[in-house]
Amino acid sequence: MSPEVKHRLSGVQRLLIDGRWQESDEGQVSDVINPSSGLTISRAAMAQYQDVERAVAAARRSFDTGLWTGMTPAQRAKILWRAADLLEEHADELAELEMLDAGKSLAGARGGEIPFAAECFRYYAGWCTKIEGSTKQLSIIPGQEFHAYTRREPIGVAALIVPWNGPLVQAAWKVAPALAAGCSCILKPAEETPLSAVRMGEILMEAGVPAGVFNLLLGEGSTVGQQLAEHADVDKVSFTGSTEVGRKIIDAAKGNLKKVSLELGGKSPVIIFNDADLDEAIAGAAQGIFSNAGQVCVAGSRLYVQESVYDQVLSGLVRIAQDMKVGPATTAGLDMGPLISQRHLNRVCDRVERGLTEGAVLAAGGRRLELDGGYFLEPTILTECDHSHSVVKEEIFGPVLTVIKFSADDDIVPLANDSEYGLAASVWTRDVSKAHKTAAAIKAGLLWINCHGIPDMAIPFGGYKQSGWGRENGYDSLLQYTELKSVVAKL
Ligand code: NAP
Ligand code: MG
Repeated sequence: MSPEVKHRLSGVQRLLIDGRWQESDEGQVSDVINPSSGLTISRAAMAQYQDVERAVAAARRSFDTGLWTGMTPAQRAKILWRAADLLEEHADELAELEMLDAGKSLAGARGGEIPFAAECFRYYAGWCTKIEGSTKQLSIIPGQEFHAYTRREPIGVAALIVPWNGPLVQAAWKVAPALAAGCSCILKPAEETPLSAVRMGEILMEAGVPAGVFNLLLGEGSTVGQQLAEHADVDKVSFTGSTEVGRKIIDAAKGNLKKVSLELGGKSPVIIFNDADLDEAIAGAAQGIFSNAGQVCVAGSRLYVQESVYDQVLSGLVRIAQDMKVGPATTAGLDMGPLISQRHLNRVCDRVERGLTEGAVLAAGGRRLELDGGYFLEPTILTECDHSHSVVKEEIFGPVLTVIKFSADDDIVPLANDSEYGLAASVWTRDVSKAHKTAAAIKAGLLWINCHGIPDMAIPFGGYKQSGWGRENGYDSLLQYTELKSVVAKL
């Protein structure tokens, strides 16, 4: 551990309310656990009812008094850009925090997630000065002149609730567009992963975000998250997490009909046609399910392989799974780290067990690994599955792949679409027409051709069906933190 991280972890992780770092109202704390070892590495304040009230009031006040919206768009852009620079400046420390808190490999976090979070702030810094309305020509009353136009206005106070599987990136994907749009916000990270959110809060203050415009509440989803989603002074809730909690958010938001956007679960198909570049497809399918130990919303957890190449693809995948180096996030040359918690590991193992009792067969993995007290599962591949099996229907959110054979090209779209979810899919083929026709026919928000799981700030990200409402990233995300006003003036 670096000295600065050691020092940081020795104290209690605090809440940020109205520009002041503070412990919770009644001093409650929870343990922060390293999933690679099962050890407690720090403690975090757990916000209580009054803390939530204070954070919402601070956000409300800062918004209503124009602390943030009163700045010029260029001034706000400069602050967001500065936040990006600071995230990069502290990338080593942030990567270490993600490694310790979420079980990310240091190299993966340092080379992937942290620069991506910084890039997100830079991307939305660019949008601050480009939020526009348009002018309209009216037809309703001939012979009269009007000047009519639309304005994009910030929606107000936004509650941003994120999960543990990509703590910093998931937070950045919400905080940056919310701030760019001019909103004041309250971030609620997952209870399992508070560390990088605290560091991000410090960076936002240092970058010049005014007190009360960004607030951070640590604590339980069922209390803090629920209170935010219900709160009458919150205008918008943006949630990333499970479909089950997504439904609770919708219910909670009913009171004041706050605007809701939801990035939920997935059960994304990976389709390998017999004319694909098989080396690429096999490696891509393995990466698609085993990266971040399968704890990825767009994980390619349902693999469909065309009959004539099925054996070759399956044996290639089994070889990769068996060769993978699984262990604590600090392991050199690591291929796969831990699951986030004992509870989650148990849940994933139960799902695999249930699959086996339903008739699935283990082609690789399936066992827990007792390593250093952390929460490890072997990369797991299940065959002989069909669409009546829970392992094919339900999101597992772990390193568990189900493999299904298909014969004719025409058979695949109905299979791929036979899911409650519609987040992502990938298609592997050398036939350009087949690739794009299949991409058009699949009901999912993100389609990859000859690759899987590649996000970009420019690419809208979100789901069809029960995978959510709305999109993150791109201009579309920014719009979800705005209201559209029409102004009609008779001249
Ligand atoms: P989760 O249990 O739904 O929790 C997500 C967040 O919601 C956490 O901060 C949680 O707080 C909070 N929460 C829990 N109950 C709440 C309530 N009643 N009201 C308000 N907030 C509440 O999800 P998870 O297990 O952390 O994450 C895994 C899920 O996220 C998977 O389903 C995955 O597919 C999905 N995900 C989707 C995307 C996407 O972009 N579509 C991206 C990443 C993950 P606590 O944890 O502190 O209780
Ligand atoms: Mg943790």
